[in-house]
Formats: sequence, C-alpha cells, structure tokens
Amino acid sequence: MSSASLDLRPEHLTPHDLVTYSRCPHEMELTHARRRSERLGTPQMACTPLDVVPERHSPLFTPSTVHLRVNEGRLDLDPHDVLVYRDEGEDDLPFLFPPERTRIDDSLLRHGMNLIDDELGLSGRPDFIVRHSDGSLMPIEYKATHLFVGFHEAHGRVFDTVQAIAECRLIEAMTGHRPAMGVVLYGDAAGRGEREGWVEVPYTDLEAHWIRAAVTQIRADRTRPPVPAERNCAGCEPNRDGLCRYAAARFESSHR
Ligand code: SF4
Repeated sequence: MSSASLDLRPEHLTPHDLVTYSRCPHEMELTHARRRSERLGTPQMACTPLDVVPERHSPLFTPSTVHLRVNEGRLDLDPHDVLVYRDEGEDDLPFLFPPERTRIDDSLLRHGMNLIDDELGLSGRPDFIVRHSDGSLMPIEYKATHLFVGFHEAHGRVFDTVQAIAECRLIEAMTGHRPAMGVVLYGDAAGRGEREGWVEVPYTDLEAHWIRAAVTQIRADRTRPPVPAERNCAGCEPNRDGLCRYAAARFESSHR
C-alpha cells in the first residue's frame, strides 16, 4: 500500500491544480505529495508508478477554446460595475476600481479569502470579482505578462480557459448564481501596459459539465504520468527542486 493511500481525505483541488494537470499530471502529483508530507509530518510518495511510461500530452480532455474572445487594449469595464472581492494575499494586483466603486461582499468571505466548492472539492482565490449592474458576477484573473505570451503555443489559451472556468465554478458554488464568463487580464507590466489585453471565457452548461468531468478524471487517475517537454519542464517547480526523475527525458520528447 502506498503511503499516499493512507490519507483518506478526498483530494483537494484548486484552479491552479487543473491548469498544472492539463500540462503535466506528474507535476501536480509531486506538488500534492509534498503538501501531504508537510501536512502529515512524514515523507509521502507520489502515486505515479516507478515504471510509468512518459506521455506526450496530458490525458485531460481540454475544454473548447472556440468561443473565447481575445481583446487588445484596456479592460472594458462598465461604469456601473463594482468590485466586490479582491485577493488581499496578492501584492502586485493592478488598481482597477477607485474606493467609491469598491463594495466588498462579505458573503464571498465566509472562508476568509478562499472560495470553497464543497460539492466538487475545489477551492481557490480569483484575483478580483466584479459585480455588474444586473447583479451578475465575473471573476478576473490577472497575469503580469502580455497578451501574446504563449499565444502561438497550442496550450496557451487552454490554460486561460481552464483557470477561468474553475473560478466561475467557485463563484457558482458560493453564491448559487452562475457567472456568464470569466476574464483573464494581461497587464503587460514589463511593457508598461502597451500590449495589455484580456481574454473572455464563456461559462455555459458545456463548461460546467467539463469541470465536473475534469475533477472526476483527475481524482480517478492514480498514474499521473509525466509529460516531459521543454515547454512544461522549464517552469516546473518540482523540477527546480530536483524532485522529478523524468525531466531529463524532455529533450528527447520535445524533438520526437
Ligand atoms: S519536470 Fe517535466 S515531466 Fe517532470 S513533473 Fe515537471 S513538467 Fe512533468
């Protein structure tokens, strides 16, 4: 029996976990094993079998990006929009709303800054949540890079989509109301906003079904295979800490 199986709590997932799994399941598993070790106070093994065969792609069936809208320029906020949530743990967020248009909604702070979805076992913290004049809510995730970082890579917009869908689901679980869309805002901090922009990700029945299926698939996967490729391993934290035994295969995999 692996030591991981002794921990009987249902595996907790975050929007970031979904993004990581869609890139490399083993990266997510190594991160979770480290968290389990910290929580239990003893080293915990990753569930990935030692004889696993590295994959070329994550097994996650990714959501459609067909209906995304990519916009260049300053985020288009309505004058009647107000800010109802801001992640206070993030220091580098831009100033989107003046104080008179900031009305923090305490019902979103029932678990501190965390939004929790008990049904799907998800939790997370969007950077902002905006309330429109019709009462609907919209999460905004901020990235300091510019709109076209990773744009030409097949997975670039998939990551935006996964993150925005997960944040919409968290709001739906907390409030009982479904956001129509989530936004990923690119501030282009290095370029002083010259190439800023935002991506609108719709949240319909299709996306709501997708996240249910994705969470089920991730929890059922006891292999969590590595996907060694330069695009994945270069920014992988477990790799930086010397925890991944498959990272060396990335050059071979990238050029296969
Ligand atoms: S180093 Fe590469 S293969 Fe290993 S966990 Fe990280 S992304 Fe996956």
